[in-house]
Amino acid sequence: MTFVFDNSYARLPERFYARLPPSPVAQPDLITLNVSLARELGLDPDALSTPEGVAVLAGNAVPSGADPLAMAYAGHQFGNFVPQLGDGRAILLGEILAPSGERFDLQLKGAGRTPFSRAGDGRAWLGPVLREYLISEAMHVLGIPTTRALAAVTTGEPVYREGRMPGAVLTRVSRSHVRIGTFEYFAAREDLDALRHLADYVIERHYPTAQTADRPYLALLTEVIGRQAELVARWLGVGFIHGVMNTDNLSIAGETIDYGPCAFMDDYHPGTVYSSIDRGGRYAYANQPRIAQWNLSRLAQTLLPLLDEDPEHALSLAQGAIDGFPERFEHAYLDVFRAKLGLLESEDADGPLITGLLDGLAEAGADFTNSFSALTLMVETGEAAAPFGSDADGPLTEWVGRWRDRLGREETDSGARLERMRRANPLVIPRNHRVEEALDAALEGDLGPFERLLAVLANPWEERPETGFYRAPPEPYQVVRQTFC
Ligand code: AMP
Ligand code: MG
Ligand code: MG
Repeated sequence: MTFVFDNSYARLPERFYARLPPSPVAQPDLITLNVSLARELGLDPDALSTPEGVAVLAGNAVPSGADPLAMAYAGHQFGNFVPQLGDGRAILLGEILAPSGERFDLQLKGAGRTPFSRAGDGRAWLGPVLREYLISEAMHVLGIPTTRALAAVTTGEPVYREGRMPGAVLTRVSRSHVRIGTFEYFAAREDLDALRHLADYVIERHYPTAQTADRPYLALLTEVIGRQAELVARWLGVGFIHGVMNTDNLSIAGETIDYGPCAFMDDYHPGTVYSSIDRGGRYAYANQPRIAQWNLSRLAQTLLPLLDEDPEHALSLAQGAIDGFPERFEHAYLDVFRAKLGLLESEDADGPLITGLLDGLAEAGADFTNSFSALTLMVETGEAAAPFGSDADGPLTEWVGRWRDRLGREETDSGARLERMRRANPLVIPRNHRVEEALDAALEGDLGPFERLLAVLANPWEERPETGFYRAPPEPYQVVRQTFC
């Protein structure tokens, strides 16, 4: 098994990480391998499936050219600053250059203790590993920037959480694992050299156009703000709730990262929270844009010394960039929801039109995903009544009239409209009860439900015989109210 590594992060100064290999496990067993991702990365899926390949995926063998390390970072967790977090259970094996020329991190999550583990065991267990695998791959298919899952292996070792759980390792692939918290780590230490080094590194790796800007560090901040605005708008468009939007879980490259107690919403309500650790609802569905802006302000703060020699001027530059977030977000959000409503042009009243629908859905307790699929179906069949579900008809009838008028004002080719709506309104999302079911079965040794769910999520727009099962909202007894990490 050969990997072609080029480890740019490992070439950064020593205080950016702790160099150490993953800790071997007792009995590696391949649970699932992402064959298409392996090919995209230029890796041989057959070789990855051999005992030698699986040994790498489990952390039992370090391939030649890898330079394994745990990254240092800090972070604001639920608003409170923690000056040292870091990879407590993840090891970055290195970076590989895909045939496309793109650079990707290859990371083993659950690879054992590191100097950043604190009281943790450095391990992960099968449930959350498969959960991240399913949800990150679903996000990718939906076109939402995300880290990806290359493989899951079991370790043959127990991990103790609520009880004795089977240990597992996820191989995670990302454009990089630099987080807002990485910047906070050096800012908290007043290590200006490291901060500049990190900013230059991120610009070169992710935002090369910033290099030629008048103020490269301001351009970096503005670019990151734009990516986050876009990302969160896309989350909202599919009803995704990250669950732990701490600054250490916010990728500088604008990918969705660190899938913990995340969830896709069933019934629409802006205050929806699933995460068992989010007691105050800080990271509720509709709070996500505000929180993203708050997190970006933490990034801006770390960049102040780089923005201008004059602290007051630096502050006003940073503030100006941050103040641009709501508009960037609003723009992206309107784009996302216009597509969901089949609109290709923009009108001033589109914002209120979208809000009107969402308010109606909230009042009716209607299913988010299926309500939008119902709108697609109405456009497809020319049906007049909105099949939102029985309790939804009253508040939404008037809205459907407004929407129809709005559609009527566009001279859009109906095929193009339908195609846009279909794309924007997937039939299937990883519904919590189906995810839980798949993980429960996997823990019992039956991977069938996991594999079937993964297969359906690989094409969430296609109506197939089995799609109905995955589209159905949970029965009252199936509703998952809390998700865990
Ligand atoms: P998370 O909540 O997964 O974003 O992790 C927050 C911090 O806790 C990070 O520094 C993780 O590396 C660390 N952490 C989480 N779980 C473990 C574990 N089982 N062992 C060691 N460190 C952990
Ligand atoms: Mg994290
Ligand atoms: Mg309902």
